[in-house]
Amino acid sequence: MSLSRPELQKMLDVVRATQPIEIDCDVCLMQVGEFAELNLVGKPIPEGLKAIEQHLSICDECREEYEMLCVALRK
Ligand SMILES: [Zn+2]
Repeated sequence: MSLSRPELQKMLDVVRATQPIEIDCDVCLMQVGEFAELNLVGKPIPEGLKAIEQHLSICDECREEYEMLCVALRK
């Protein structure tokens, strides 16, 4: 069995889409403000910010930062 290039590319895209994107705290803190604002107004989270959501679920430090931001934004 041999795969053509477009098929192979498609498979790689699927793998990428299903794997959570690992980001570090620096990246998270840079974008967490945008994430908090979107959440606050009830807008859907774009694909690019899904990694933030995922990072917040595993990182206590960034989640604290996020919660503080939410409180600050609500005022
Ligand atoms: Zn973090």
